[in-house]
Formats: sequence, C-alpha cells, structure tokens
Amino acid sequence: MGWSEADKRLGMDRGITRRDFLDGVAMAIGATALGGWGARPAMAQTAAYPPSGTGLRGQTDAAQNVMHAIRDGSFWASNPNITDSGEVYDLVVVGAGISGLAAAFTYRQQKPGAKVLLIDPLEDFGGHAKRNEFTSSSGKRLIGYGGSQSMQTPSYFSPAVNATLAAIGIEPAKFETYYNQKWAEERGLNGAVFFDAAKWGVDKLVVQSGETADWVAQTPLNDKAKADLIALLDAPGDYLPGMTPEERLEKLSQITYKEFLLDYVKADPQLVDYFQTSTTGYFGVGIDATTALDARGNWNPGFDGMDLGESVSKYHSPSGRLGFTDPDPYIYHFPDGNAGIARHLVRALIPAALPGSTMEDQVVAMVDYAALDAPENEVRLRLNSTAVKVAHDGDPASAESVTVTYAGADGLHSVKAGHVVLACWHRVIPYLTDELAQAQIDALNDQQKVPLIYTNVLLKNWTALDELKIDGARARGNFWSGFEIDFPVSMGDYQFANTPEDPVVLHLSKVMVEPGLSSREQALAGKRALMTLPFEEMERSIRELLTKALAGTSFDPATDIEAITCNRWSHGYAYEYMRPWDQFWPDGPLPIETARKPWGRISIANADSGAYAYAHSAIDQAVRAVRDLLGTPDGAPDFARFPGPPLDKLGL
Ligand SMILES: Cc1cc2nc3c(=O)[nH]c(=O)nc-3n(C[C@H](O)[C@H](O)[C@H](O)COP(=O)(O)OP(=O)(O)OC[C@H]3O[C@@H](n4cnc5c(N)ncnc54)[C@H](O)[C@@H]3O)c2cc1C
Repeated sequence: MGWSEADKRLGMDRGITRRDFLDGVAMAIGATALGGWGARPAMAQTAAYPPSGTGLRGQTDAAQNVMHAIRDGSFWASNPNITDSGEVYDLVVVGAGISGLAAAFTYRQQKPGAKVLLIDPLEDFGGHAKRNEFTSSSGKRLIGYGGSQSMQTPSYFSPAVNATLAAIGIEPAKFETYYNQKWAEERGLNGAVFFDAAKWGVDKLVVQSGETADWVAQTPLNDKAKADLIALLDAPGDYLPGMTPEERLEKLSQITYKEFLLDYVKADPQLVDYFQTSTTGYFGVGIDATTALDARGNWNPGFDGMDLGESVSKYHSPSGRLGFTDPDPYIYHFPDGNAGIARHLVRALIPAALPGSTMEDQVVAMVDYAALDAPENEVRLRLNSTAVKVAHDGDPASAESVTVTYAGADGLHSVKAGHVVLACWHRVIPYLTDELAQAQIDALNDQQKVPLIYTNVLLKNWTALDELKIDGARARGNFWSGFEIDFPVSMGDYQFANTPEDPVVLHLSKVMVEPGLSSREQALAGKRALMTLPFEEMERSIRELLTKALAGTSFDPATDIEAITCNRWSHGYAYEYMRPWDQFWPDGPLPIETARKPWGRISIANADSGAYAYAHSAIDQAVRAVRDLLGTPDGAPDFARFPGPPLDKLGL
C-alpha cells in the first residue's frame, strides 16, 4: 500500500500493528473446509496463542460468519453435510463466556464427573472476558484486558456468585493490595480533558490540576458554559425547587440528563456537547438517552444541591438501575480484567490446560490451548466452532437427549447431549431451534446488545504522559472516549509499570451510539456502523488522537506505538432496561422472565438473561440455568432474582 506522508508521520506504515499472529505462526480455517454454504468471506485467521493476537480481535468476521449466514438464509440453503461425531456428553454448553464456563462448573458441582463439551466460535475462551497480551521491544510481557473489565461492586454479589468465586480460588479482597490506588498520585499525575478541533475549533489538552475554576478557564468553552460548568461542579443549586424528594427522584427518572442540563439547570448548550459521551461507558448511550437519575449514578454533576432523600426506595435500588449506586472502589481487576475469572473457571474445569493453583500464578501462566479439547478430558472446550442447531431427539417433554450440531474448522458435526445450556446471546437462540413458541422468540429478540470497541495500545514508554503529568485524558468531540494508562495492578510475578521509561498499555474505548434515537435503536444503528468500520480507520484515528493530545511532548507515534489491538464487540453489553425507554422497569413484568424459560432438556444462561451486563450476572444466570435443569440442591446459595442482588441480602 502507498502511504501518504501524513500517514507515515503517524506510523501507519509500521506493519507491526497489523500482525495477526505471534512469531509468524497462524492457523487458517478455510471456507472450503466447511463445504460451501455460499458467501463465506475471507479466511479466518487465528493466532497460535490467541491472547497475543493484535489488529482486529474479539468478534471478528471469521467468528461471526456462520451465524450471519444462518441469519441471512444462505447457510442451510446450501444443504451442508453433517457428520455424526459419535460423541456423547452429559452436558453441552453453547458459548464459552463466563456464563457458559460457570454453567459447566456449576453442573459438575451438582454432578461430579459429568462429561461436558463447550462450544464457541471465538479464537479464545471467555467471550467478552478477553485477555490481550503484548511483548514490548524491551522484552517485557504486558497483560491487558480486551473486554469485560472489572468485578463491579462485590458488595452486591449474590451468595451464589461469592460461592462460585471462592470455589474457583478468587478472593476479591486481595485486590485491595494488588491494585495500587495511589499509583497516579505517587507520580504526581492528573486527569485531563482533550478538546478536539472537529467539535471545538481548536485541539486543546487541558490538565485538570488545581481549582476547578483554574482548569475550566483554559478550556475552549464560551464564557457562559465555563461559568455553568464551574457552578455545576463546585456549587450546584436546587434545580427542582418545591418538590418532595420522591417527586424529584420520579422527575429525574423521566427526563434525560441532556434535558436536565438544558431545561432545569439552564446550562449553556455547549455543556451538552461537553458531557454527551460521559454516560456511554456504563449505559451504552449518551446523555441524550440516559435519564438524569442514571447520570447521577454515573457521577455526573448537578445533584448535590437538592434534597433527594435518604430513604431506600425503588429509585435507590441497589440493583444498579433506577439510580445506580456503587459503594465499592473500582479496584477488583485482574491484569486481564474478568478474563481472570474465565481462566480460573477453565483451570477448575480442565486443570491440564492451565498450570498452577493460585490466583497469583494464574496471571502469568500460559494456557495450553491444545489441552482444551483433548479427548481424554472430562470437560472439552472447542473453540472456532459455532453451534448451528439444537434439537431434542423427539418430543421435548419426554426426549432423553438433544442433538447439537456445530460448524467447526473441518465441517459440520453433531454430538448428543443429556442436557444443553444455551449460554450464547438471546438473539442467537431463535436461529438455533424451532422448538420455541412465538412469545418466547419475541422476548428473546427484545434484547439488543450494545456495540463497542475496547482498544489496547502498547507504548514503548510513557514519558510523554509524564511530561504533561497526566495518566490519561477524556476526549470531547473525538471518535474515542479518551485514553488512559492501564489499571495499576501487580500480583504474583506480574509487576505493573513503575517509571516513565517502562512500557505501558494505553486503553481506549468507543461505544457506538447514534444520538437522537431510542436506546435500542442506537444499539442497532451502532452495530451496523461498527461492522463496516475497518481496522485501518480505527488505527489512524488512534494515532491521530494521541498525536494531537500529546502535542508538544516527546511523543512520536511512529516509534512509540509498538502494537495496537482493537477488540470489536459488535454484540457487546447485554441491553439493560432503562427509563424513559422501558416504562415497565423496574416493576415488571420483564421480557427476560419469558425469554429465559427452559424447555425439555435445554435451559438458557448468559448475562442477557439477567438483562444486566455484568460478570456477576453471567454467573447468577449460569447457576439459575443449571438449576432449571437439575433442580436446586439442598442448602445451595441463592442467586439474584433478576438484575441486582437478592433484596434480603441488603436487609431491604
Ligand atoms: C467491552 C465490554 C466491557 C465490559 N466490562 C465489564 C466490566 O467491567 N464488569 C462486568 O462485570 N461486566 C462487564 N462487561 C459485561 C460482560 O458482558 C460480562 O462481564 C460477561 O463477560 C458476560 O459473559 P456471558 O458469558 O454472559 O456473555 P459472553 O461473554 O458474550 O459469552 C457468550 C458467548 O457465546 C458465544 N456464542 C454466540 N453465538 C454462539 C453460537 N451460535 N455457538 C456457540 N457459541 C456462541 C459467543 O462467542 C460468546 O463467547 C463488559 C462487556 C463488554 C463487551
């Protein structure tokens, strides 16, 4: 490819970031091997050691082609041959994310020695909980998170989640030591905001040091917006006078934060642009579609001057919605995020695949991917394989087994199962079975997953950030939400960066939104846009952002960026019910109650069936799905009824 001079300055010609595999070793899964069902584009390439794959990872075209061909009608139209593998399992789990892995684990707790097969189209296990690894030019190995980030709010975990984590050897409290909460402070680093010229007419990085008025004065906001921002942050007023606390909460749950800013705070419209993407990370939509009450839970300013009452009500539900609350610090983070949970589950299921025995040695241990699907295993995990059909062998009410058909690297195969847990996404399920009533299909299709990108950039060192005394910056008006040095977690033999000369991983994210639409419509439009966004464009925009934001420092994108991994999650967060779009929330009835009903020998797990995009929901739903099949053992710990912890746990 002929690169322009501008591209060369950005380092776009440095092929290193487009390596799709480690040490030149790649396995190809060819379209021809599957015996043509029509349009199956490009060869699927997967890294020999999946965590170290760079470039575009996560839900790649290769991982999604089969299900998309089924959706589009071309898959079965080509009459593909199915080979009976002769394999028989007690349980087949469709989807090897945290929920599928937890379902396999829970099933075997109740049925020790059970033979289990897990199937997943991705190149790695864990689903959203994906590990990214890098080796810097200094030789140091860095571990980052490519998806599901941290264990959020352990205080709200259900007894079933706590019991599962304990059984697989995870002690969340250890992160109180492993996560260095003073890392930035010890190095004198501040937060920052980058204003992009595309929106603000000038590229400007503002370091948030000193008093609010000091740094706000340096922003390109107009004078009224500056004054409004300072008031909002330092001295918010009572913007809903004459109301009782309950009335205020009801009002805040019915208006968006954008409306709150414009119609109640009477803030300058520039503050809408300033805060627009502030809520996307948690709620999957910007402030145009997030209620003011949810925005408050997201730490958006403007609420401290009003009496909102202390009473526990549905508005202060610890379920995380209406009025998100979070009493815990955000520190429960393995270096690879919740991939650490997935790895603990895999170690418990297939000990030969992951050497060692502790939470600490797990971090640096390398998975033996060849051991995952070894024939001698009681539990086999089959990657690069997509379940395409799930059917009871006879009437679901009386059938003794289920046939599961999957598309693997070498064609279509069927296996027999005593039970099946569908731990894939709700919207996939109607494509796998014709045994469901229309009401359940409709309820499954109510789920509309939030699309997003989690990017990791390997930097040779972070001296440029040290020169500015920042550990990252929020971006306002840029494609990306900003960039930040990875979480400072050291455990076992894994040590986080210490001095500015050390290599680090910078994290960037993007939630694909389409402001102005309803929350579900935004997710759908965003998914379509994401599916057509090439890696090259993502890479260029990353290099441009860092070059502009770090202008005036020693930063050179062509030499300081050593690798880029963009984890695409076009089927990302489980859609969470939210007002004003879902007026049935939180009282119900909730679509998930219909969607996740088991039938015959099949049950449904996944965070989708909690409508709650959290690892602890994935585990809760796995436990519930196994109990749907096997019943609840005496004395088993409880799981959440639906989003959030059991109310009795919180004394409500
Ligand atoms: C970018 C991102 C960041 C997140 N951050 C956090 C966080 O900080 N904290 C938190 O608690 N949660 C977070 N989450 C939420 C996350 O969804 C959960 O933590 C959890 O990982 C969900 O697990 P799951 O098993 O339910 O779903 P998934 O991880 O999506 O697993 C479902 C699996 O089913 C597979 N599948 C789909 N179709 C088929 C098929 N036909 N055949 C076989 N398999 C199939 C998929 O490939 C996938 O691996 C985040 C999610 C994303 C996307």
